[in-house]
Amino acid sequence: MRHLRQEKPDPTRLIEEKIQTAQEIFIIWGEDLKKDALIKALLPRYEKAVNASNKAMEEAGTFKECYVCSVIDKKGCCKIGLENECSVLILLLNLLFDVKFPEEREVPGRCFFVGPVGCKIFARPMLCRDYFCLRLQKMLSEKEMAHITQVLNEELTLLHQINTRMRELLEEWTGRFLLEYDLTGYGVDYRRPL
Ligand code: SF4
Ligand code: SF4
Repeated sequence: MRHLRQEKPDPTRLIEEKIQTAQEIFIIWGEDLKKDALIKALLPRYEKAVNASNKAMEEAGTFKECYVCSVIDKKGCCKIGLENECSVLILLLNLLFDVKFPEEREVPGRCFFVGPVGCKIFARPMLCRDYFCLRLQKMLSEKEMAHITQVLNEELTLLHQINTRMRELLEEWTGRFLLEYDLTGYGVDYRRPL
């Protein structure tokens, strides 16, 4: 994880390295992770929660608004670098859902995971899910906003629980040297005391 320790890491190399690390972990421990009783119980609940959040957002019209903002207005907030909100553990979680990562950044200047029909990954980091810009805030009624936030809460709680369990297991199996895999790895020099 050399790039995690650079003060100004290159975002593309950083995500490529994190993807490679997640894939290596998946090859060695993917099946064992899937067999763990807690992860086995949490994965279907998480999948259901993500689908419920997507449904709530779809019904409130946020997906459509984001499409107009990104594709038609050429604005959009899925910018280059944001892919690194994905920790190695979130990438690993995507692999548990058989997500295929892109080989390269498809849209220049945009997040590594942006495709023609939006985000290509299933398990997304908290920032991507829980971000409502002014444009969306103006569009949504208080009731819609409260409903989305409530539904999202289940997804994000489960995301945290799965990440925590995966980290616990991986630390146990690898002799506790995987702490870095929770970090996003950009913008902060982790060599300095926080
Ligand atoms: S969240 Fe806001 S800024 Fe981002 S794509 Fe949607 S409308 Fe645009
Ligand atoms: S929602 Fe997807 S495409 Fe957008 S910043 Fe997050 S990971 Fe990238």
